[in-house]
Amino acid sequence: MTKISNLDILQKEQILTKDIEPVEYPVLEINLNKVYENTRKVKELCDSEDISIAGIIKMTHSMKEIAETMIAAGCDYIGTSRLNQIKKLRKSGINKPLMLIRIPMISEAANVIRYADISLNSEKGTLFELNKEAINQGKIHKVILMMDLGDLREGVFDVNEIIGMALWVEKELSNLHLYGIGTNLGCYGAIVPTEVNIGKLCDTAEKIEAAIGRNLEIISGGATSSLTLLKDGKMPKKVNNLRIGEGILVARDLDEIWEYDIADLHKDAFILKAEVIEIKDKPSHPIGKVFIDAFCNTPTYEDKGIRRRALLGIGKQDLVNADTLNPFDKNIKIIGGSSDHLIIDVEDCDNEYKVGDIIEFYLSYQHILYLINEEDVNKVFV
Ligand SMILES: *Cc1c(COP(=O)(O)O)cnc(C)c1O
Repeated sequence: MTKISNLDILQKEQILTKDIEPVEYPVLEINLNKVYENTRKVKELCDSEDISIAGIIKMTHSMKEIAETMIAAGCDYIGTSRLNQIKKLRKSGINKPLMLIRIPMISEAANVIRYADISLNSEKGTLFELNKEAINQGKIHKVILMMDLGDLREGVFDVNEIIGMALWVEKELSNLHLYGIGTNLGCYGAIVPTEVNIGKLCDTAEKIEAAIGRNLEIISGGATSSLTLLKDGKMPKKVNNLRIGEGILVARDLDEIWEYDIADLHKDAFILKAEVIEIKDKPSHPIGKVFIDAFCNTPTYEDKGIRRRALLGIGKQDLVNADTLNPFDKNIKIIGGSSDHLIIDVEDCDNEYKVGDIIEFYLSYQHILYLINEEDVNKVFV
């Protein structure tokens, strides 16, 4: 038997305490440098038309590293959809104006004034309550009135109504500052931003300016999908702000849906790594009477004979649409999963996978949205 020296014990302790801290999978790996570079590229495009950027971080909850990276790369505002996230960003000391981009709830009014610098609005009743709270707290809060140009999510639909609302905010609501107007497209109605619909936003802005007798500071012409207009050189000149999330953080929509190549944006700022926990040759058709799976579906299976399949330690609890993941290894096929497992077919892979191997996936918006909030998924910055 070998004698254990003090040195061995010391080394063992170091291993146990800090030297080798095992990574726990699954891992959502976040490359801040790629987020930075994407922000720079979008910023260059926007700078060409004097358009400021609100970096929208809702997809990454209130992750301050993302907000800080966007700010370092030149975003003028940080926006998100939920007040709880705004509150956390405020407490983390973010030094740019915080924009609440979901129309506030009346019940949130006090904390909207407390934590957000700017909010997007469409309801007089809510604006009235915001003003009351702003008076109570001795603050001036900036509001952007939202106009619905046909996407049919938030916003005032009627031009005269929004002009009237703007005039009312300007003249009657002492502690709200009418910062500007904005619109959102491509969300519910999946409506394409065009010179015509964004042009209508700009016409309305001019009418409001005539009514209140001054210029509006912000004309916010939409989200990532509006970058297509910019790229085509068709963005109406009056637009001076965009609210960009997906185009910086995921950068897939413009290329894969709109077929626009914008400055080689990185599509892998966020990737997923999951570990193989079982790997075996099994039949591809379940044995016995097929009934109902864990999610109340009655599935169908194609019988492809015996195939090599791997089981990964990640599942629908971590990301709802696990079967739409996009593996780095193009020969991997995702065949299904349950709450805690993802099953992949590796029969056609050149790589001989084994237990303990790490499988990597590209991600889209919906995946990141779930993974980021999942406590059982480790977030690692590289
Ligand atoms: C989500 C959202 C954005 C950002 O959209 P992306 O497509 O991620 O750029 C902008 N504005 C509003 C109101 C939003 O809800």
